[in-house]
Amino acid sequence: MMEQLQKLLPGEDLFGLIGRSFVMSTFRNFNSMRKTMQLTHFRHLPGTLISQDFKKIIAALNMNSNQTHSEHTCFNMLKSSISPQKLEEHVSLSKNITFNCRGSVVSTPWRWCSDCVKEDTKNYGIPYYHRDHQIPGVFRCLKHQCTLVTQCYNCQYKVTSIEQKPLPLVDEVCPDCGSIFDRNYFLLSPKMIAVENICLEMAYGRLQIPQQKLAQRVQNYMGVCQHEIEMVGVKIAIRNFYLNIVDFYGIDELKKYFSTVTKISRGIHCPALKGSNMYDFRSIGKPNNPVAIALIWHFLDEMLDNQK
Ligand SMILES: [Zn+2]
Ligand SMILES: [Zn+2]
Repeated sequence: MMEQLQKLLPGEDLFGLIGRSFVMSTFRNFNSMRKTMQLTHFRHLPGTLISQDFKKIIAALNMNSNQTHSEHTCFNMLKSSISPQKLEEHVSLSKNITFNCRGSVVSTPWRWCSDCVKEDTKNYGIPYYHRDHQIPGVFRCLKHQCTLVTQCYNCQYKVTSIEQKPLPLVDEVCPDCGSIFDRNYFLLSPKMIAVENICLEMAYGRLQIPQQKLAQRVQNYMGVCQHEIEMVGVKIAIRNFYLNIVDFYGIDELKKYFSTVTKISRGIHCPALKGSNMYDFRSIGKPNNPVAIALIWHFLDEMLDNQK
């Protein structure tokens, strides 16, 4: 059933592989391939954290699951931040493509690096989507130190599903309006570079930030203990913790990460950075967004180090 599935190329995104396999297959259209391969999703989105299709494709490739996830999907971002039990629940229950929780991450289109596209075409005869370029919170190609290509700046055309453009654009001409499909030129602040690095480390499974570890550091920062949290006597400390984070990043940077960021009279409102499991070991609230965890982790790195 999966005969027409290609082998993964170095750093290739697992859903990107579906796109490339389609291009190299004899299927007439994407839908017939989807049916034959019994794929669950109708739209394969970039940066997917949970997918029923991961398991199917990895089994068909006869690959090691952990290694495939660390190099070819974004699943580890979730794995490194929630307990195995909770993870199991989400994986078995979720048919959603994206991991939905409060203040969800800004949905990014399929992205690529035009230098990688050129190199891959030279080395492998075909360009392909890289996993590292689809990680939420990552804006650059680390290999070439350039920002990723995201959309046409003339007409806003972007690639939202793998079916739409199964391979990155080689000639960089917008399929809709014909103008140059350019890189997203902007400079990342030192904070964004640090957060980007944390997101990458999480995706590779090299950085584990389970709830317990995060809550402990936040409690250290607030100068309170679990007992006091349970007594509900630390509302002001918790409030200040949020205010300090949003101040630290500012509204412009937060908007690059989260869809819900608004200016309110008391400051900035960013629901993704709230959630009792940020500071309470025993909280059974919805798991936090991995990008929110990365932002808080970097904030704590700066603050706790400065206190030394
Ligand atoms: Zn590159
Ligand atoms: Zn265009």
